[in-house]
Amino acid sequence: MKRNTVPQQTRIFRAITIFSSGMGAAMLALWALDMAGMTLSSYREAATFGAIVLGLASLAGAGTAHAYFAGGDDTSQSYEALLNVDSVTGLLSRKGLAESLEDYVSKGGGPSRMNRFFLISLDFDSLRDFNETYGLETGDSLLRVFGDRLRRVVGETGLAARTSGGEFVIVLGANHDDRELRAATEALLGVLSLPVRVGNASHSVFWNAGVAEIHKNRPPMERILRHANLARTTSRATGRGTWSIYHPEMSQVAAYRHWIEAELSGALQREELMLHYQPKVDAVTGAIVGYEALLRWNHHQNGSIPPSEFIPIAEQCGLIQQIGDFVLRRVCEDLEQLPDHIVVSANVSPAQFNRDDFVSNLGRLINGTEMRPGRLEIEVTETLLIRNHSEIRRLLGRLRDLGIKLAIDDFGTGYSNLSTLSELRFNTLKIDKSFVDRLTEKDPAASTMVASIVGMARSMNAMVVAEGVETEEQATLLRAAGCTVMQGYLFGKPQPLSSVKRQNHDGKPFLVHTSPPVRQTDVLAAAS
Ligand code: C2E
Ligand code: CA
Ligand code: CA
Repeated sequence: MKRNTVPQQTRIFRAITIFSSGMGAAMLALWALDMAGMTLSSYREAATFGAIVLGLASLAGAGTAHAYFAGGDDTSQSYEALLNVDSVTGLLSRKGLAESLEDYVSKGGGPSRMNRFFLISLDFDSLRDFNETYGLETGDSLLRVFGDRLRRVVGETGLAARTSGGEFVIVLGANHDDRELRAATEALLGVLSLPVRVGNASHSVFWNAGVAEIHKNRPPMERILRHANLARTTSRATGRGTWSIYHPEMSQVAAYRHWIEAELSGALQREELMLHYQPKVDAVTGAIVGYEALLRWNHHQNGSIPPSEFIPIAEQCGLIQQIGDFVLRRVCEDLEQLPDHIVVSANVSPAQFNRDDFVSNLGRLINGTEMRPGRLEIEVTETLLIRNHSEIRRLLGRLRDLGIKLAIDDFGTGYSNLSTLSELRFNTLKIDKSFVDRLTEKDPAASTMVASIVGMARSMNAMVVAEGVETEEQATLLRAAGCTVMQGYLFGKPQPLSSVKRQNHDGKPFLVHTSPPVRQTDVLAAAS
């Protein structure tokens, strides 16, 4: 977040500088003319002199003014970079932290003389949403609330800083083992995650943390911070509200991520991405009613890379927009080659909704084909629904107006509340595989969950699809619970369009086995 915090005195000082550079240039021109032996004896000479002086003065003035105004943000940033204190929260700035760290550690973290020190990097997931929905001022107030909470938790025993945007850093000492650290980190996350009130609404904010130990040889702060940030990013991949401690293998994983990022942009051009289709079958008759399109990446050197590895990276580096366009375009093309009663669902990442023209582009795409819009279904996850509610309701409403079907994926794993869901009028609820697995483990909570999802879907007039069905026993239990459509290896694995076209779409499904994806370590070895 860029903030203009240049103080008034500094502005006045700069204005004086601009004025004096103009005057200086005029004096310089006067001196140059004098040296050239010119006098102001004639009207013409006077006019020439005046033009040169003004020209030079305005050039110098304009140059300085440009540096001042056009580079305003940079100037304010470099001004902030000089400060040891963060102007929003009053905590230490990144610079202040770097300067205080050495002193803090060498003095043993205060009177109680600690023997181990840890840097904890913390961030939360929704600063951008807050800024966009409520404005920067509210975003800043939110940061101040968190700053105060951290100050209270850390007190005099540690250091607390805001290093950028929604990123905070804590340095703590510990006398004993990792249990102390664990307790401290969990307490921190607990305090930070307490709800925040904005206006009449109460918001839950989800935090992740990464911890790096500050070893005896005291590496530079930037390196410790990088390690803690890496641990934090790794923990985020395992879910919100989690934390992890840095270990060197994380750097290897980070190298893999960089490799994926670098290769992914070429994958589209090299036509390495393709769609496979997994059948969805009628729970009673076993007939194929539709397919889910699942992305496959066959890298020219390293072979198959699973979407669970490259999609999250594509989401973070922005490539998901291009990839998502490719998926939707290809699904529409392929749908034209399949019978009219077949519905195909495509997965759409929450990040794709960030683009204003997402819905209009999709409308144009569908209008360019002969197919009924209702043959395309979009699968979104519950993470989309934690965003600004009215905005999402408007977007989903526009998709429904296009005639497209809407499904909620991995249902039951997120945080959305039931009234929100019924308002958003989804056509399909997909029960997550984890519940299907737990059904056969005789987990009573799982069967209650499945029964309540089925009941809720009925009241919403929506269809229930059970995902990841692998055994006859699971299928029988799901059928008994009232599940109408099933998807899973029991009925068919994801397969290329050529195989799909050979299927009998009035009869029973058959099994097609695709080669298993390579493991991450295989690709790592080849990439290094
Ligand atoms: P998902 O949308 O939940 O897709 C279901 C995943 O479960 C697929 O993994 C599928 O191959 C797998 N699966 C289906 N039936 C079974 C079963 O019986 N047993 C087991 N063990 N697995 C089963 P896949 O293809 O590896 O995709 C993983 C995830 O990647 C997807 O989860 C989805 O979140 C994401 N993804 C895949 N394609 C796309 C895409 O085109 N766009 C976006 N944004 N995400 C995609
Ligand atoms: Ca899906
Ligand atoms: Ca799913």
